Amino acid sequence: MPHCPRCHQSVDAQAVSCPFCRTPLKAYGHPGIPLHRATEDTYLCDSCTYHLDDTCNFPQRPFAKECTLYQDVTQAQLKASQQQYKRSFGAHFRSWLKQYQFWLLILGLLLLSFLIAL
Ligand code: SF4
Ligand SMILES: [Zn+2]
Repeated sequence: MPHCPRCHQSVDAQAVSCPFCRTPLKAYGHPGIPLHRATEDTYLCDSCTYHLDDTCNFPQRPFAKECTLYQDVTQAQLKASQQQYKRSFGAHFRSWLKQYQFWLLILGLLLLSFLIAL
């Protein structure tokens, strides 16, 4: 369960504002639009993908304390490396199948003959 950035109480993930201190937690009062907030002496832009790849043109950049589009660069990098791992695992598995397809076919035929003999 997420915590309120101001009073640090546990709050519902869908809460539009904190029920304890009334801090807005979602943008435009909509539960589907997260409102990211920087901690006291940092700026969101310092760790945002769009600042680092220079694609953000929001006027509050590079000193945004609140932002709806913030994307944590560490999360984006983690996601990219997980996708790359999945892709490389799939490619490795396909090449393994290709390499041993003859022996897999023989093994399959042997199993089938055992099943028929029983
Ligand atoms: S999207 Fe928001 S947090 Fe990211 S660089 Fe732009 S203003 Fe900063
Ligand atoms: Zn609060």
